[in-house]
Amino acid sequence: MILGKQDRSYDLPDASDSNTNKRANFQKSSPKVADFLKNNGFGQVQTLCKYLLAKAIRRNFVPLVLLGLNQSFFQMTPRTVAFHTLGCKLNYSETSALARLFEENGYLPVKFDDGADIYVLNTCSVTEQADKECKKIVRQALRHHPHAFVVVTGCYAQLKPQEIADIPGVDLVLGAGEKFRILDYVENLAKAQGKGMVRSGDVRDINTFTSSFSFGDRTRSFLKVQDGCDYKCTFCTIPLARGASRSDTIENVMNNARQIAASGVKELVLTGVNLGDFGNGTEVIEGHRAKKEALFVDLVKELDTLDDVARFRISSIEPNLLTNEIIDFVAESKRFMPHFHVPLQSGNDKQLREMRRRYRRELYAERVASIKKTMPHACIGCDVIVGFPGETEDDFLETYRFIQQLDISYLHVFTYSERANTLAATMPGAVPIEERRRRNHALRGLSEMKRRAFYAEHFGSVRPVLFEQHKNPALLSGFTDNYIKIEMPLEVGRVNTIAPVSLDNLTSTGEACAARAVSFEHSGADARLSQFSQVVLD
Ligand code: SF4
Repeated sequence: MILGKQDRSYDLPDASDSNTNKRANFQKSSPKVADFLKNNGFGQVQTLCKYLLAKAIRRNFVPLVLLGLNQSFFQMTPRTVAFHTLGCKLNYSETSALARLFEENGYLPVKFDDGADIYVLNTCSVTEQADKECKKIVRQALRHHPHAFVVVTGCYAQLKPQEIADIPGVDLVLGAGEKFRILDYVENLAKAQGKGMVRSGDVRDINTFTSSFSFGDRTRSFLKVQDGCDYKCTFCTIPLARGASRSDTIENVMNNARQIAASGVKELVLTGVNLGDFGNGTEVIEGHRAKKEALFVDLVKELDTLDDVARFRISSIEPNLLTNEIIDFVAESKRFMPHFHVPLQSGNDKQLREMRRRYRRELYAERVASIKKTMPHACIGCDVIVGFPGETEDDFLETYRFIQQLDISYLHVFTYSERANTLAATMPGAVPIEERRRRNHALRGLSEMKRRAFYAEHFGSVRPVLFEQHKNPALLSGFTDNYIKIEMPLEVGRVNTIAPVSLDNLTSTGEACAARAVSFEHSGADARLSQFSQVVLD
């Protein structure tokens, strides 16, 4: 279904889209240069040519015959584009993919504050204040460039398109199925009087997968390998915002991983909405159907053969999909890090049932025990929701005690909030807001104790660290293989390298471990770590 705020309408471009034509003409008129552009990125080279041309004109170097480029190449108005992302790593990876799309088509990505011609806001539906945040960012964009064209997309745009279209200054709202066709829309919409055009189809019709990955600080990249979810958790709007579960092919993922590694990134984080369902593995893992295609464990095994990537992390995986086969493989792998993030949501079976989670607390405890048996040094994090409808004080205490005795390393605590169109929002037994906050506070305190205890267990040990820039220029930061955050004095040339460090004790803020670089030969570290260090340093 296509929604339109006003009766202003326009046609979607077909295969004869203007950029496609320009490229086809260019290919005919200058095949060698076109090949060069193809290999080096059309957008970047085009931007460079425009810059050189402007410079040449300023120096009266006319007439200018530049590599036989035809006139239409230079007649394209250079336009700038800026992005803002709200929400999860998946959104960040998708914003990066959108930025590359614009760049490859001759747009110049600029910083948000630099006053772009086009602003793209990629929204999230998880934050309670999605609407307020969206309005704030649109206002900021228009302050930087009052005549900018503003496009809003992402989960919130899919869930509440009309609400966003009504925000003053928003020109175009794109739903989940339209997100990656953004150029088609932008290039065919002139800035008009009317505002708030909505292009959002029915989320049930989305069946395509678009690869995306982010580069961030060039140390770590988030690679989307799966999207959407077929589960029916009663509190969650993500299936409504992103559609059914679908995955990339292993071949594509491998190509993307090679491309990311070629740019110098050392760590690749696999992301998805329901990552363990890669290849729609749920039914196979639950024993309801035979295996037909590659599942998540097959992807992990294939990626592990890539010499170009030093480290892989699995961003988050449902406990019912984290099989012993995956755990055992990670335990043996030199590239997959001993770090798991496994959503729990509640430590109380009654609540898990009401949430329609597909496991009970015993299974969760069993998963944690399996990980720790094969990797005693592994870091395990979990998500928990407090204040779900019907959660009594006793239920909450049961969750608290369950987590207290689990051998996990940190929590992400979420305060339940009612979401439109979810079953949970209609359930009786709403917990007062103040009480939800109190429970959140209590679990955050428990998380802090768990994290510090996990760090303390490793004082005096040696672990490999991928070094990153610290916000304090005199320091280096980074994470060990098992996700312990470290801090140490700056050593020039260390950023984006991996080396063993000795973990001493907590820093004064308690947020990280103070560390110092050591060599494995003198540290007495175990053979596997030494071997690992060798692999990543070679
Ligand atoms: S598994 Fe549940 S919580 Fe996670 S995205 Fe799917 S429906 Fe939402």
